[in-house]
Amino acid sequence: MDSAPGPGEPDPTGTGGSGGAEGPSSTSGGSTEPAPPLSRYESQKRRDWNTFLQYLKNHKPPLSLARCSGAHVIEFLKYLDQFGKTKVHVTDCPYFGQPNPPAPCACPSKQAWGSLDAIIGRLRAAYEENGGRPESNPFGAKAVRIYLREVKESQAKARGVPYEKKKRKRPSTAASSSTSTGGGSVGGGGGDGGS
Ligand SMILES: [Zn+2]
Repeated sequence: MDSAPGPGEPDPTGTGGSGGAEGPSSTSGGSTEPAPPLSRYESQKRRDWNTFLQYLKNHKPPLSLARCSGAHVIEFLKYLDQFGKTKVHVTDCPYFGQPNPPAPCACPSKQAWGSLDAIIGRLRAAYEENGGRPESNPFGAKAVRIYLREVKESQAKARGVPYEKKKRKRPSTAASSSTSTGGGSVGGGGGDGGS
């Protein structure tokens, strides 16, 4: 089967079909289909993968998946920052290092480290599920790991939030309220890293 065409294709002007379907349709797409019976992880993985393929398609110069390296993956992660919702203070900001600033500031919002880490994990799996070879998996590149570690450390400093390794002690009763915990998705809201 071939992959579904993404929503990003520019509609040539003048094909006006039935009235009513007006306006940009490329925001999140897929609202017409009934929800597929996928787990949350699977559907996020699919969405992340599609986002990445779309990114490659729009890349200048064009970039094929086969030629994608760890450096491109890092580029992609930086691109995602514009959709992030996690305030990361610059060193000049008076709130640098404060987890709960008393007032807003002009610092940029970025993707929380936890979100990026989760996205990379999903894309890494998706790459191999789509026929990529593990030894050439750009999402597993050392440069990507190093980049993620740097993001983690700088965000921990800027936000005053220590990113400790979570203990694998999950309460069995908290299953229902997990809609907005770490690892936000790429296309939609993006995670806030839980603050
Ligand atoms: Zn700030």
